[in-house]
Amino acid sequence: MEAVSIKANLPARPAYKASKYIVPNQQVPCEMIQRPRPLVAGNWKMNGTRSSSHSWAKYMSRLAATKVLGCDIAVSPPAPLLDLVARALGATTTIALCGQDCAPQDKGAHTGDISAAMLAEVGCRYVLVGHSERRNSHGETSTLVKAKASMALAYGLIPIICVGETQAERDAGRAISVVRAQISRSLPERTTELDVVIAYEPVWAIGTGRVPLPAEICEMHDSIRELLIRRMNKRADVIPLLYGGSVGAMNAEEIMSLQNVDGALVGGASLKDEEFWGICVTCDNLKSDSSGNMK
Ligand code: PEP
Repeated sequence: MEAVSIKANLPARPAYKASKYIVPNQQVPCEMIQRPRPLVAGNWKMNGTRSSSHSWAKYMSRLAATKVLGCDIAVSPPAPLLDLVARALGATTTIALCGQDCAPQDKGAHTGDISAAMLAEVGCRYVLVGHSERRNSHGETSTLVKAKASMALAYGLIPIICVGETQAERDAGRAISVVRAQISRSLPERTTELDVVIAYEPVWAIGTGRVPLPAEICEMHDSIRELLIRRMNKRADVIPLLYGGSVGAMNAEEIMSLQNVDGALVGGASLKDEEFWGICVTCDNLKSDSSGNMK
């Protein structure tokens, strides 16, 4: 059977909106700069049942239908639950589906793997690649992550490329260089500013309740933005840079109010529908004005 590109069937990406962006500590607004459209993505990892997924999706779709947010929302259930969640969210939902991983090959003898084509066919807009649980537990290298991201792009999916340093790397003062190297090696050559999201997730912050200091997040996100601009020029201003690692209702506002933090990748807290919706509303309040323009 030939691999068929089903890009045309994917839901359209929301348009980016420009807005005047005032650089903190500067007196005057700088010229019109494109701001990324913020994104809050929930990663359920290997959690969820048919019943819990159904009620989560019904809760979220009800709220998303009554309040249109100026940020995108995505959810990443385990693969066997994707179709159920898609159906429960409904055809007109604004909540996007996201795969948790995809294979670097497009089909064939790869038992246990899931192809980008399959994710696209079930209605995914995004796919996580390079999550630290895959880099560390499955020995995935940035070269492999790049191959997976390339396959995602080939099927019209937006890869959310996850990067982050370990505690030992941070302690050794290597956090920035490790993350920059991961990004440089994981980004496919043909990536444009419209088809990629980067998630900075320090390994030591995932599922631990520990988060970096605001200054450490800012330093890392500024460095990532600088690297992307160096590689793709000014257009990289619109690439959403998500922070992930123990984000919850208690710290979402502090984290997402930081400059160059364009949303969050949320693990454990995304399983709790009410808390996840609250994080999405916080993102909307912080990042978009009443007309839906990016702040
Ligand atoms: C994640 O799995 O990507 C994550 C950030 O997990 P948690 O929010 O639970 O730390």
